[in-house]
Formats: sequence, structure tokens, C-alpha cells
Amino acid sequence: MAAALCAATRRLRAAGIDEPRAEARLLLRAATGLAPETLVVERERRLDPAARARFEALVARRAAREPMAYLSGEREFWSLPFHVAPGVLVPRPETETLVEAALELVQDREARLRILDLGTGSGCLLLALLHDLPNARGLGVDRSERALAIAAENARRLGLARRAFFVAGDWGRALSGSFELVVANPPYVASDELAGLAPEVAHYEPRLALDGGPDGLSAYRALLPDLVRLLAPGGVACLEIGRGQEPALRALFEAAGFAVATRPDLAGIPRCLVLRPAPP
Ligand code: GLN
Repeated sequence: MAAALCAATRRLRAAGIDEPRAEARLLLRAATGLAPETLVVERERRLDPAARARFEALVARRAAREPMAYLSGEREFWSLPFHVAPGVLVPRPETETLVEAALELVQDREARLRILDLGTGSGCLLLALLHDLPNARGLGVDRSERALAIAAENARRLGLARRAFFVAGDWGRALSGSFELVVANPPYVASDELAGLAPEVAHYEPRLALDGGPDGLSAYRALLPDLVRLLAPGGVACLEIGRGQEPALRALFEAAGFAVATRPDLAGIPRCLVLRPAPP
């Protein structure tokens, strides 16, 4: 295994991967199913031909800059393991800002809240919240059937399937009812900036989850009427936003009658827009 690991490390380094050795090790684990300790202790163990072929295929895909999470099939979010695959956005650490904000805003963590996640993708936002809010129930909406299948799979794996429901839809268009908590990580990259993102993002992650139209804000305009209709009186919405988008979005939502606050991510960038319906 040691030689294969070295060769893979060189190949990943040449492809511009930042931590080639660590990633080669992760891919070897994915290819062999061996525990991390085994990889260290049994460095000289021979790779069987099938595992070698799997390893080389994974290394080739990573060298072509396919996201690591698609190759390992997993990404941690809110300290929970999420299954991810091509067709859903890989959960990002800054999105945890929304979970943090929402949990702080919930008065009573034991309450029977109704949560709505618009554009649920892997389900990471909704499922992280359901994990920490034991009596809440949630609905995740997505236009992508592929995403819905992955989100449902994550709900099962995390033991949350009895409280998590997923439906196909265009934002909240087809929904009725009212929700005390609404979350969303809409696509917010301006269309002409997509090509400049890291190759992992630009070439592999779903455009549907990233492309926010000419100014990056199309999705917020599209989901605004649904938010007005579906947010319960006294409810709160937490929406992820991109760098520099706060002023324009504040104006948009204030004009629609929301009280607007923001919360920064760990890099200090306003990342979460906190919206409350203005009292009647
Ligand atoms: N933060 C993501 C990125 O630029 C964008 C996510 C989104 O559009 N919602 O990689």
C-alpha cells in the first residue's frame, strides 16, 4: 500500500491539490474499506487487484478535481455524517452559521415546531435542526429528485425519517400551511462568476444549487412571496447569503415588511439573514 499511496500523493500534488497525502489516504480508505489505523500499521500489506483498481479510479477522479466528498460519499456537517453524491451541493462549514442562528432563536427546544427547508439539497440544514430539536417536524423542498432521494437517505441514516418529509417543488409554490422556522441556502453566485469558482465547485457541483442569476439574487426574489405566505406569525427565517449581498437583500426584505438582522460566519462575513414578519 505504501508505494500506491506515494504514487497517488504525487499525482494529486501535480493536479494542484493542497493536501495530497491526506487526501490520498482518505481515498485509500474509501477504496479498501480499511480503518485508518490499519492503513498506518499495515503499510506494507499488498493491495488486492480489485482494491487497487478502485483506488486508481478514485485518484484519477480526484486529480480531475472532482470534490473529495463525492468520492468518499460523505461529508460532516454539524458534527453529523451526511451522505453526498453528485447532484447535491456539498455541505459547507459556513452554512452551520444558519443552524447556530436558528437554534439560538428558538425559545423552547422541546417545542413542536414546524420547520421548512427551501432547496434542501442533501438535507443538511433541516436534518441538523431536527437532530437538535427533538419534537420538531420538518419539510424539505427541492426541484431536484436526485437531491430529494439523497436527503431522504440522510434522514434514514440519521434516524430522523419519522420527523423529516421531502417533496419536489419550486421553492414553496405548491405548499400551504405555516411554519415557525424557515431555512434556506439558495443559489447566490452571480452567473458570470460561476466559471471563476474552484474547479471542484464550477465543474462538478449542481448549477441549480449555485447559480443565482445575473446579480446572484434571483432566488431570493423568487422565494420571497412564499416566505411571506408560509412563515407563521412570530416565526423566523434564516437564509444564507453571499459576501457583499447584505445591503441589497436587506432592502429587498425590508420593502416586503420583514424585520432584518444578520449573523456573521466564522470569517466575519455576514452569512445569515434573519427575517421576522413585521407585526400586523
Ligand atoms: N458558498 C457556496 C460557494 O461559493 C455557494 C453556495 C450557494 O450558492 N448557496 O461555494
